Amino acid sequence: MDDSDESEISEMINSWLDANMEVFGEILEEWEENNYVQPFLDSKVNFQCNDCGKCCNFHDHWVWVYPYDMVRWLQKIDEEEKIPLFLSALFPVEDLDGISGYGLPSQREISERYDEMIRQNKKNPLVQKTLRAILSYLRKINPQFNPKSEFCIYYSPNLSGKSGHCLIYPYRPIQCRSYPYDYPQFTKFVIPGLEEKENTQDSPMCPEETYIGGSSINGVQISEEQLENVIIEKANYKTSAVIYDWSQESEEWNQIKETDLCDLLLQYFHKDILVLSREKRFFQDDSQEKNQKKKDANKTHIAGKRPIRKKR
Ligand code: SF4
Ligand code: SF4
Repeated sequence: MDDSDESEISEMINSWLDANMEVFGEILEEWEENNYVQPFLDSKVNFQCNDCGKCCNFHDHWVWVYPYDMVRWLQKIDEEEKIPLFLSALFPVEDLDGISGYGLPSQREISERYDEMIRQNKKNPLVQKTLRAILSYLRKINPQFNPKSEFCIYYSPNLSGKSGHCLIYPYRPIQCRSYPYDYPQFTKFVIPGLEEKENTQDSPMCPEETYIGGSSINGVQISEEQLENVIIEKANYKTSAVIYDWSQESEEWNQIKETDLCDLLLQYFHKDILVLSREKRFFQDDSQEKNQKKKDANKTHIAGKRPIRKKR
């Protein structure tokens, strides 16, 4: 790829992100002003994650990485060298309502998709090299990585402690941060017309014993910090629909819609990925990770779940 290709891709990605932020910023502001998401006030049940890891197993759901998550990652790119990996290893996904977005892949999905892409890119050794570098780096940082596993690529059964089993705990997407508090059993929408739909499907899949003091359907106590994550997560979710509509009409989008954003990100970050894949350790600075863990000390839950998926 020459310099002009690179700057063109950079422009496309930036234009996509700018447009997303424009839509997202307005929605989030509106949601906060109107307190659109509220916890159930009669909550009587505490929740405590028991680290079972089910929410990181993608056999029946995606973990979405919303535009806002991507923007947050990009904002930290100077301080965290793994951000190019987070962005390059995203997958295009779609929910049952036809809303398109990007998600984290399972170990099986990334292995199958990349094997296929490596075959298709016989004439493009750079793409092949980048894809192989991602796979080999994932295997290096996660010795339990298994091309048949349905677990998230960042799930490592060998980890323990506050980070659970998540290799990217300080950078995990908002959906992972807000689960299971993003469910209607715990919080509710107060936007007319949305509440009914949100309450009709899905239920938390955490084991019953994690809801201390009663059944999960009564709701749980929720801290301000958790509520903030829930608001962002739900706004993220709804923003995807708005962006989907916008993307059908936008002229800018027409220019880039033929190209998958995942492919663009992969091409754009290939140099960083190749450098990163030579690293031996996942976290370069343990003290940084510990500080982040302290900040996250009040967040006991690990990951999230969305309605049953379909691939596009
Ligand atoms: S918590 Fe970590 S391992 Fe689990 S789904 Fe989220 S990013 Fe993946
Ligand atoms: S959040 Fe729930 S499903 Fe996920 S690890 Fe904890 S208890 Fe298990």
